[in-house]
Amino acid sequence: MNGYVERVLNETREKNSNEPEFLQTVEEVLTSLEPVIQAHPEYEDHAILERMIEPDRVIEFRVVWEDDEGKPRVNRGYRIQFNSAIGPYKGGLRFHPSVNLSILKFLGFEQALKNSLTTLPIGGGKGGSDFDPHGKSDKEIMRFCQAFMTELYRHIGINTDVPAGDIGVGGREIGYMFGQYKRIRDAYENGVLTGKGIPYGGSLLRPEATGFGALYYAEEVFRHENDMIKGKTFVLSGYGNVTWGTAKKIAELGGKVVTISGHNGYVYDPDGVVTEEKINYLLEMRLSRNANVKMYADRFDCQFFEGQKPWGVKGDVYMPCATQNEVGMEEAKLIAESGAKYYFEVANMPTSNEAIEYLKKAGLIVAPSKAVNAGGVAVSALEMSQNSQRLAWSAEEVDEKLHTIMKSIHDSSASAAERYGLGYDLVKGANISGFEKIANAMLAQGWY
Ligand code: GLU
Repeated sequence: MNGYVERVLNETREKNSNEPEFLQTVEEVLTSLEPVIQAHPEYEDHAILERMIEPDRVIEFRVVWEDDEGKPRVNRGYRIQFNSAIGPYKGGLRFHPSVNLSILKFLGFEQALKNSLTTLPIGGGKGGSDFDPHGKSDKEIMRFCQAFMTELYRHIGINTDVPAGDIGVGGREIGYMFGQYKRIRDAYENGVLTGKGIPYGGSLLRPEATGFGALYYAEEVFRHENDMIKGKTFVLSGYGNVTWGTAKKIAELGGKVVTISGHNGYVYDPDGVVTEEKINYLLEMRLSRNANVKMYADRFDCQFFEGQKPWGVKGDVYMPCATQNEVGMEEAKLIAESGAKYYFEVANMPTSNEAIEYLKKAGLIVAPSKAVNAGGVAVSALEMSQNSQRLAWSAEEVDEKLHTIMKSIHDSSASAAERYGLGYDLVKGANISGFEKIANAMLAQGWY
């Protein structure tokens, strides 16, 4: 192993031993970068790796909100401003009880590389809270979002840091947060948040962008393999916004999604999540107060497998769309046994590093989340552009730009891997391509 990479990895393992998810990402990325580091001693001379894995700043704060009984409730809020070498910090806010520093640091680091891949001028950040939206009333959600923004507003801005949604944060939450930001600042700076509703500066196609982008990327991979999406069976996890957009585009392209999942089990729909009614029902489920994927099985009369994951179901293409670490060695073996050829990560870091290596060795084409799901943040950056120009592009215009961006992410990853003699390795290629732009911007900007 390259000496510099090894030293930084060992230091990180020591210093960050209490941050397992962050370590997982750093190990995956840094080992991919070995040939680049080997060829460019200037990165070591300027401590690029050490500087890149240490966030610019970590903000942690208390959020106090009033529940429906009139009682005060306390949660922890965060914003991690990871890297601003190529643009203002950009990345989502996650509201979920599992949120902690390790999770947000892994997401922030991944975000910086992903945003670099989009070709657009955005740095990387991530934030959120351990607040659990599940079972909360609409008014409780509103009061939480207002309390969260009352602290967050002082750290963000259209040229500083532009948050958006992630798990537990969709259009409704962004609306409440933007309302509070506007009230406090007394200014209509709607470019400070993305994923807004259409009437107040949101971009057409932002809700669909992550899922649609994933399929535009997949189309490039299929083209590379002289294969086609039409007629293929897709095994998906999740049932939220990302799963919805992914299923919608798969249906449009003539594929068939046969599974969706939630925290309590998965649904098997042999007829496919293909009709407009079924696809739209995903959105309806998510917005219900006690959202639960079993609702789909009851509504469309299909089987629900309680407490199980969908990875034992046979398919041609596997796309984890739910959350981090859904696929470890056990699940990877099931996927490899199915004889499938394609594995596209759509959620952020859904696969353990060991499982990625296993799937690649088993002969699957593995595409990493930082490339596959980058369409979401890319359209967020397009939303920022529209807001700053005070105009709105048509859905066709946004779709065309999204297409171009996803093709370029695929091509730049493939050619970066090629350049370093790694073959068609989309995982390493994405890390290298995302890294190079940030590293070279950091070199040009001096030590900080
Ligand atoms: N949370 C999304 C992501 O993981 C979107 C971020 C954004 O639009 O800023 O990339």
